[in-house]
Amino acid sequence: MSRYKDEQCRICRREGQKLFLKGSRCYTDKCSVTRRNYAPGEHGQGKKKLSEYGTQLREKQKTKSFYGVGESQFRKYFEMAENKKGITGENLLQILESRLDNVVYRAGFGSSRAQARQLVNHGHFDVNGKKVDIPSYLIKAGDVISVREIKQDSKIIKENIEANKARPLPEWLEKDNEKMQVKVIRLAAREDVDIPVEEHLIVELYSK
Ligand code: SF4
Repeated sequence: MSRYKDEQCRICRREGQKLFLKGSRCYTDKCSVTRRNYAPGEHGQGKKKLSEYGTQLREKQKTKSFYGVGESQFRKYFEMAENKKGITGENLLQILESRLDNVVYRAGFGSSRAQARQLVNHGHFDVNGKKVDIPSYLIKAGDVISVREIKQDSKIIKENIEANKARPLPEWLEKDNEKMQVKVIRLAAREDVDIPVEEHLIVELYSK
């Protein structure tokens, strides 16, 4: 997907919701949604009623932005979700939550998903003792994700662990800050997903 640098806040403002794309700033009153909760641009403050298609499209775009996933990858996840047993929308969210960069973020090793993705790319993590530097790698129940021994002095990871101690850990993860590792107890269920998404709209969009 096209990468936004200082533009992440515009994505949140367009969606009218905090999507937590910028790390610690998102938790402060410097957050642009807190300060200017209307869409960016000249006509941002005008109310625009979306069509059914527009509503479904926005829901998909919001979810892609939240997880930092491009269109083709997102479509691939949707097809995987359709082919799994269960409810397609819930399967889709579970797959997105299972991305390694998301788990690194959820565990508090990264301040945002974007930073977590970069840390994974730069080879900071092992999965079950083996280096994995693919942010889209899908974890499984029982996997242990740990900061690689040679990266354990990383200032950025140490700062993140300290700064994110108060951030709630999802129930499907078990973290050991001393060992710098997190264990996946089970895959995320629908109730574990805190993004305000109506996934049935995405299913409807792709089912047209
Ligand atoms: Fe910007 Fe974060 Fe607020 Fe979104 S949640 S507007 S990324 S500060």
